[in-house]
Amino acid sequence: MRDFRSKRVCRIPPSGIRRFFDIAQEMEDVISLGVGEPDYDTPWNVREAAIRSIEQGQTAYTSNSGLMQLRQGISGYLSESYGETYDPKSEIIVTTGASEALDIAIRSVVDPGDEVLVADPSYIAYCSNVMLSCGTPVPVPCLEKDGFKLTPDSLMESITPKSKVLLCNFPNNPSGGVMTKDDYKAISDIVVDNDLLLISDEIYNELTYEGEKASAASVDELRGRTITINGFSKAYSMTGWRVGYLCAPEELCRAILKVHQYVMLSAPTTSQYAAIEALKNAADSCHEMVREYRIRRNLFVKGLNRAGLRTHMPNGAFYAFPNISEFGISDEEFAERLLKEHHVAVVPGSVFGTSGKNHLRCSYAVSREDLMTAVGRIEEFISEI
Ligand code: PMP
Repeated sequence: MRDFRSKRVCRIPPSGIRRFFDIAQEMEDVISLGVGEPDYDTPWNVREAAIRSIEQGQTAYTSNSGLMQLRQGISGYLSESYGETYDPKSEIIVTTGASEALDIAIRSVVDPGDEVLVADPSYIAYCSNVMLSCGTPVPVPCLEKDGFKLTPDSLMESITPKSKVLLCNFPNNPSGGVMTKDDYKAISDIVVDNDLLLISDEIYNELTYEGEKASAASVDELRGRTITINGFSKAYSMTGWRVGYLCAPEELCRAILKVHQYVMLSAPTTSQYAAIEALKNAADSCHEMVREYRIRRNLFVKGLNRAGLRTHMPNGAFYAFPNISEFGISDEEFAERLLKEHHVAVVPGSVFGTSGKNHLRCSYAVSREDLMTAVGRIEEFISEI
């Protein structure tokens, strides 16, 4: 029998995070800082709205683009938060999580051979998504010395005649780096002069701790060449509901909608009703979670630095990204030994790309108590190496 698997799929490496979860699952008394999701339940009023919609028999497909009331809510949210104007009729598509939004956006714009500049370190799905579209991911280093931001110099150095798309995510998973509106302005000339499309994954925007949250498309020069990706998973603790969205200029949206309607038809209906409620009446719950994450971030990052692990203060998302280069072992070995010998699960930074090397991703979306216990265990491990 021949090998039926496509060459494209065979080329994609398996997730580097999985291996650590598999080891952790076999062990007892493990504190996991490996997870990438909030440790809260979805706010009750959001769950109730979903239950109500089921009771009322709202169980059919919605329009391909999503419920108009939800698209109007998204449009209102973006206008209020960033002064952006998106037409709910033609410029917003509700998707099955930001994951689907990323996939269909990339598939709609990448042709074989196109290079996609990826702000590195990056969310693990990006390079695989690009490769599934037969594109070539090209890392753009976002370094600790620059606060893990995307700088004009770094971007310029990575551009080639084949560059078509710039894919970035701020606040960043895994580094916690954040771009301000001025930071986006600083790269806008390069994006325009090189005729690039920007795909900006802003799923962690609500989790910005100091200063104003920023959206790339609020920069006038970028608005017409940006696909904004966002969702409900992080801000409203709704990872299991699988609901997100993308916004883009009409012509691009029409192309993306073709892919969406053939692969998904519409996002889950119950979740769309929940998302309407989240935008309308869950801002307080979101702010409460952000307040708690901020406290944990401060405790955890100070604790790590005291323990001897140099850690940049992240300004967004819920990850700390300590630097382990001074210990003379790789981030994989550090993570594996920390797990096996001291029962703390973290993710090696190199899983997220070349610029993640010599770092560890530690999620602080866990209780303060667990965070402090983890810091104690990390300190013990450091004293041994
Ligand atoms: N983008 C980033 C940067 C993420 O970290 C995640 C989830 N970990 C996603 C997208 C996917 O989000 P969703 O649950 O909306 O599919």
